[in-house]
Amino acid sequence: MDKIQYKKEQELETIAEMINIYCRDIHKTDGTNLCPECQDMLDYVKKRIALCPRGGEAVSCGNCKTHCYAPKRRQKMRAIMNYSASKMLLDSPIMAIRNKIAQWFLL
Ligand SMILES: [Zn+2]
Repeated sequence: MDKIQYKKEQELETIAEMINIYCRDIHKTDGTNLCPECQDMLDYVKKRIALCPRGGEAVSCGNCKTHCYAPKRRQKMRAIMNYSASKMLLDSPIMAIRNKIAQWFLL
């Protein structure tokens, strides 16, 4: 697996975990399956990551001119992040990715 692909996989894994935590706690799902709304969000994120033209660059998404996330989705993603990030704070390897993801939504 090349480096760009690896990075994208890591990002996706992190987001999937965040959505999972959020859905389980807020939407009271069983932690195995997401509710349709969150599943839709995850599918959307997957697509965005796959299509991100900057996957391999050092430039952060905050400086990227490609607006990956539509405003409505961004709003929901923010809610997911705010909730789940606090639960993942102790998971240090994830922090760098988390910060990067946070930038996506501060555009
Ligand atoms: Zn949900």
